[in-house]
Amino acid sequence: MRKPGFFSCLRALILALTALQLSSCATNPVTGKSQLMLLSKDQEIALGQQSDPEIVAAFGRYDNEAIQQFINEKGQSMARVSHRPELKYEFKVLDSPVVNAFALPGGFVYFTRGILAHFNNEAEFAGVLGHEIGHITARHSAQQYSRQILAQAGLIAGAILSEDFRQYAGLAQTGIGLLFLKFGRDDESESDRLGVEYSTKIGYDAHQMADFFGTLDRLSKQSGGSIPTFLSTHPDPADRNKKVDRLASEWQQRATGSSYEVKRNSYLRMIDGLVYGEDPRQGYVEGNTFYHPELKFQYPVPPGWQVNNMSSQVQMAPEDGKALLLLTLSPEKSPSQAADAMLQQYQLTQLSRRNETVNGLQAVSVLAEQANEQTQQVVSVLAYLIEYEGRVYLLMGMAYKEDFNAYTARFRQTMEGFRKLTDPSKINVSPERIRIERIDKDTNLRAALQDAGMPSSRYEELAILNGMELNSPLSRGTLIKVVSK
Ligand SMILES: [Zn+2]
Repeated sequence: MRKPGFFSCLRALILALTALQLSSCATNPVTGKSQLMLLSKDQEIALGQQSDPEIVAAFGRYDNEAIQQFINEKGQSMARVSHRPELKYEFKVLDSPVVNAFALPGGFVYFTRGILAHFNNEAEFAGVLGHEIGHITARHSAQQYSRQILAQAGLIAGAILSEDFRQYAGLAQTGIGLLFLKFGRDDESESDRLGVEYSTKIGYDAHQMADFFGTLDRLSKQSGGSIPTFLSTHPDPADRNKKVDRLASEWQQRATGSSYEVKRNSYLRMIDGLVYGEDPRQGYVEGNTFYHPELKFQYPVPPGWQVNNMSSQVQMAPEDGKALLLLTLSPEKSPSQAADAMLQQYQLTQLSRRNETVNGLQAVSVLAEQANEQTQQVVSVLAYLIEYEGRVYLLMGMAYKEDFNAYTARFRQTMEGFRKLTDPSKINVSPERIRIERIDKDTNLRAALQDAGMPSSRYEELAILNGMELNSPLSRGTLIKVVSK
C-alpha cells in the first residue's frame, strides 16, 4: 500500500466498458486482413485511457527520471517504425518487484521495475518493448478484451463483492483481473515476430531477446513455476528462444550491412540503484503483523492467510479463498462519511452500525450484506472505518453468508488490532537496490559474488539476475549486478 493511496472503483471501469457499443469489422494493421473487431479504434483508445489510471493506481509508478526518459525515447522511436505509428503511445514504469511487461489497447505499455532489474542490456529491453508494442499493433488485446468483456462483464461487475472474490484474491498481483489476459499462442508468436522486427528496425540485436527468454525460463524454474505474470501469459520460453533466435538472424540478413547494438554497460549504469524486490517502506508482513513504516500503522494478519500488498490496497485471504479481508484508504473525511460512501459504492444493505474506539482511534463498525440476484448468493460484510492521522482507513471483511460466522472473529481480531506504529526498528527499513560493480581482475561470477560479499544462498538468484551461470568467466573491467541496502 502506498502513501497516499486510494482505491479507485473497479465497478465504474467495468460498467464503462460494457456501455461501449460493441462489434465492427476492421482491417488488421499487421496482417492487412479483414477481421471481426468488437472494438473500433476509438473504443480501443478509450479503453486504454480508462484502464491506464487503474493500472497506475494498482501498482504505483516507479519514479526515476533517467529510466523514464529512456523507455519513452526507445518506445516512441519504435512506435514510429511500427504498423500503427499514428497511435499516441505512452510508456510507464510500475513500482512492482514482479517480472512483467504488458500492454493495453490503444497504445499503453508498462514495464515493472522487476523486469527492468532482470534485463542485462538495452537490446533485451528493446525485444520485450517490441513484443508489447506488437500486441497493440496487431490488435491482440482488443480481440481478447472483446471476448473477455462479453464473457466476463457480469462476473467482474460485482468487483470484490461478487461470487468471484476467491479468484479476485487469488490473482497474485492485481485486482484488475480483466487487464491480465492470456493471449493465445498464435498471438504470442506474432508478437515475438513483431518484437524481432521492430527492435531490429531501431538498431538492436534481437538475438538478445531470445537470451532474455532464457532468463524467464530460469526464473520460472526457480520459483517452482509459480510466477504468475509474464510467464503464464507467455508460455514455453525455451521453445520461443529458438524461434526468436532464428528470426533475429533472418531480419539481420534482410537489412544489409548495418551492425546491431547490445549496449550492456549503458543499460547497467542506468539501472544502478534500482529498487530490487519488495519495498518494505510500502508495507510488509513480519511474524503475523502487517507494518506500514510510512503511514505508521500496524495490525495483526490472520495466521496462514495470504497477504497481497498492492499500491492502493492490501488483500488478505485464507488458502481456501472462502473469505477476503481488504484494507484501503477512504477518500472521505470522517468514519461515518466513509461508511456511507462504502455502502453506496458496493451497493450494500446496512444491517447495523456502531461507533467504536479502536486502540484510542475513532471508528465506526458496519455490518452489511449484498445479495447477488443472478447467483442467488448473499455476501456478508463486516467493515471498520478507522480515523488515524487525518486519514480514514477502511478494513472490510467478506464471506458468503453461510461461511461468515466462521470468519467474524478473525475479521474482528485484525480490525480491532489496528494501531499506531511507533517501534523505530519496524519504521526504519529500506529496500534492497541493484548495485553495479566493476570487476577488477579476470575471474568468474561465483568468485566475483563472493568478493562482493554476497551470501552463497543468493548466488543462484544473482546468476539469473546477471543472465549468467555461476561459472561464467568474467574478464577484468566487466560490470555485474549485486544487491545491497
Ligand atoms: Zn505477450
